[in-house]
Amino acid sequence: RKRNPGEREFHQAVYEVAKSVIPFIKENPKYQQAGILQRMTEPDRTIIFRVVWEDDQGNYRINRGCRVQFNNAIGPYKGGLRFHPSVNLSILKFLGFEQTFKNSLTTLPMGAGKGGSDFNVKGKSDAEVMRFCQVFMTELSHHIGANTDVPAGDIGVGAREISYMFGQYKRLKREFTGVLTGKALEFGGSLIRTEATGYGNAYFMEEMLKHQDKSVEGKTCVVSGSGNVALYCAEKLNQLGGKVVTLSDSSGFIHDPDGIDEEKLAFLKQLKMVRRERIIEYAKKFSCEFYKGKRPWSIPCDLAFPCATQNEINLSDAKVLVSNGCKALSEGANMPTTIEAIQYLQQQKLLFGPGKAANAGGVAISGLEMSQNSLRLSWTVDELEKRLQNIMKNIHRQCVEFGDSDGYMNYVKGANIAGFKKVADAMLAYGVI
Ligand code: NDP
Repeated sequence: RKRNPGEREFHQAVYEVAKSVIPFIKENPKYQQAGILQRMTEPDRTIIFRVVWEDDQGNYRINRGCRVQFNNAIGPYKGGLRFHPSVNLSILKFLGFEQTFKNSLTTLPMGAGKGGSDFNVKGKSDAEVMRFCQVFMTELSHHIGANTDVPAGDIGVGAREISYMFGQYKRLKREFTGVLTGKALEFGGSLIRTEATGYGNAYFMEEMLKHQDKSVEGKTCVVSGSGNVALYCAEKLNQLGGKVVTLSDSSGFIHDPDGIDEEKLAFLKQLKMVRRERIIEYAKKFSCEFYKGKRPWSIPCDLAFPCATQNEINLSDAKVLVSNGCKALSEGANMPTTIEAIQYLQQQKLLFGPGKAANAGGVAISGLEMSQNSLRLSWTVDELEKRLQNIMKNIHRQCVEFGDSDGYMNYVKGANIAGFKKVADAMLAYGVI
């Protein structure tokens, strides 16, 4: 804390990992002697830069860009770029740190990084977004590369932003390489990348339930967010026989007790991803309730899926979920549940799937996009969906291997230890570097 003052989210992410990893390190002193956990909490390097761009009125606007290259022990740095006014070093460091364990769990050769800017895409014209992305990439291009660091999307960075940045990289470097993932299919993108994080989260829940001889079939599901992760999580839950009754955005949430089916999701994809409008339009179109400024955790459910942003479930939300009968929660977003809320949910024996395991499907398909780019070929939807399902099963299996705590399956502990071990062993093998 002394070395990283004020970095609240970063402290939270490290605390959560340290709690389960320190007892494991005590049982395996080789990691302690080499200071592996301390080394893992210090990024390899952090690059911070100024981004000056011109708005449509001809004014110069200044934002801050950043890339935290956290750890490349098991592969090139890999992790998303986030464009949101709340972005600061603490948030990017927590995300980069989490990414170390998540990427390790996928079993693919990917290190960890995260980056982004405090640029707000909301309310900007396409031309403004393009100019911002081009200037951002002009600096970032010095620090990334297909074998060095391969960024992807995150909040505020979707297909449009990735395309502008990839175009600029290609122009600057005069080469066509898989330097970004989440690209459009026409220029090296992978099928099902868009769907992968949300689908993977639903699959992870199915795996946790299967482990207890249960399933998603017939369960009422509460989902937050209405972005990339939330919409495709809802789509897969429907396909698995669940009933999704809520979605949200930063203005509030909608409750549709009839279920948000395929047709309603198609409307939402247009509304949120193409027209970029507010979720209240859904309530108007389908005559259901809209709760302004609220999160959906007060709605009774069997299963909960926080898929919007960090710290969106606090202790009192957790208590309401449990008292309403919620039995399991799978994190689509990164660190959406506070430490106090996780502790409470685990005390109540609720099945809890942490983001670094449950939302790893997106980066897994990004890893497969890198493989396809290297091979210069594209796999089919069936092939990729099978691989995604297998990867999520594998992640679940690794969590179970290390997660048993006196009869309660502690997925937080399992994910942290399994993710740690692979990276730690690689770092040990390299010696003091
Ligand atoms: P999007 O930008 O597509 O969607 C984010 C959604 O969350 C939007 O509905 C947005 O509302 C809402 N939201 C964002 N910030 C807040 C806030 N402070 N309060 C309330 N609602 C908010 O992002 P993604 O779906 O890609 O990402 C969502 C989460 O999943 C993030 O935590 C991200 O790090 C994580 N994640 C994403 C992956 C991916 O593949 N995309 C991979 C792994 C994790 P509004 O529309 O009003 O802005």
